Amino acid sequence: MSAPFTELSELSAPMLANLAQLGYEQMTPIQAASLPHALAGQDLIAQAQTGSGKTAAFAIALLHRLDAADPRTQALVLCPTRELAEQVTQEIRRLARAADNVKVLTLTGGSPMKPQMESLAFGAHIAVGTPGRVLDHLDRGSLDLSALNTLVLDEADRMLDMGFVDDIKSVAKRAPKARQTLLFSATYPEGIAQLSAQFLREPRRIEVATAAPAQIRQLAYEVAEDERLHAVSLLLNHFRPASAIAFCNTKRQCNDLVDVLSAQGFVAMALHGDLEQRDRDQVLIQFANRSCSVLVATDVAARGLDIAQLECVINVDTTPDAEVHIHRIGRTGRAGAEGLALTLASLDEMGRIGRIEQMLGRESTWGKLDELKPAPGGPLLPAMDTLQILGGRKDKIRPGDILGALTGEAGFTAAQIGKINVTDFHSYVAVERSIAREAVKRLSNGKLKGRKVKVRRMADLASAEGDR
Ligand code: AMP
Repeated sequence: MSAPFTELSELSAPMLANLAQLGYEQMTPIQAASLPHALAGQDLIAQAQTGSGKTAAFAIALLHRLDAADPRTQALVLCPTRELAEQVTQEIRRLARAADNVKVLTLTGGSPMKPQMESLAFGAHIAVGTPGRVLDHLDRGSLDLSALNTLVLDEADRMLDMGFVDDIKSVAKRAPKARQTLLFSATYPEGIAQLSAQFLREPRRIEVATAAPAQIRQLAYEVAEDERLHAVSLLLNHFRPASAIAFCNTKRQCNDLVDVLSAQGFVAMALHGDLEQRDRDQVLIQFANRSCSVLVATDVAARGLDIAQLECVINVDTTPDAEVHIHRIGRTGRAGAEGLALTLASLDEMGRIGRIEQMLGRESTWGKLDELKPAPGGPLLPAMDTLQILGGRKDKIRPGDILGALTGEAGFTAAQIGKINVTDFHSYVAVERSIAREAVKRLSNGKLKGRKVKVRRMADLASAEGDR
């Protein structure tokens, strides 16, 4: 069993109060193993997966050392992807609520340089970014690391896979030698050992069980190749997860599966490397706001995603890499909730299953496809539907304006409205499925910030594109 945060005598009373308010009572295993050393200033190599609570583990440590009265950048977190950097920023901000005015800035590629430079000019206590962009800022002199006391390498193995090794080294060389370095990685390939030998000082190795947590229920099903995609719909109809990620080994398989599922009335969306950034963002918004039941993804595309409350992971194809399998299924069963991991395997994939079993230290439990019965309740549909509003941050639209328009003039209740995302030029609002069409009508006929706006259902947009 884990220990309460109150056991860490270094933590301030406001930090402890904030943790309690966030509902963080007990430390997760990675937090319990790493925080005492991290708070004492030691370098760490911590083996931890997404969902283990690793972000809070390093965030609490770096906030502990932070002096908010000093406006210089004191901590830098390097992450492999923009999404992860944004999630890390949010988690740090949540944890920093206890302190005065801690400024956390995200520095990632794919967004314009200039606003980031302007924000940096105002000062950022903590910078979170992708290695290439951070290096770019260092080169231009917009980011200064002379006062840095904590460097975090998050998902270091992914950063290496993505070819960031030289960038990471360049960044680390420009940070003061007398600093704490915290390296988090799900796996421990050779490159990590080299990187840590070069940049960490007498690091402490922290490992918590890499095997899947016990609260993940795992079931495997043998499939013939030609029934694989149909088998996914049998699983969905039988288990009816509110949200699931289906992992495929190739982009083509992703597209084929989305076609099969969509034809059967499921709301499924593909996430793979061929998507434009904007399409990728739209898919993720719809999945996170519960307008999409199944995200169909390749491993590369799903990297760095932290999706809360994922009920189910489906391994549509068995991966040849047992560690990838563990990483996949670790996305369900987070923070005490029970998760479900379903694996489809053809006879040709039994060797892969064997390696996975070895790694997990347990044999698979096999289910039978022909025993799967559709559960009652009609087709599996997500609770929400997403409306897109043509207008965003550049039009000074804020989430409150949209909520106000829907609950005011349009006459809906706040309970019928879900997550609202405002991007530069568009806004997205999740509404209960049953009111989506009516909400489009009422918003189109009414006004938002005193102006007429164009509104449409994302689903209509997608089918219009599909017809072209
Ligand atoms: P991470 O592995 O950092 O992506 O964290 C996974 C999720 O667990 C995040 O949504 C955190 O907000 C949450 N979390 C982190 N630490 C705790 C804790 N001690 N108790 C409960 N939830 C936590």
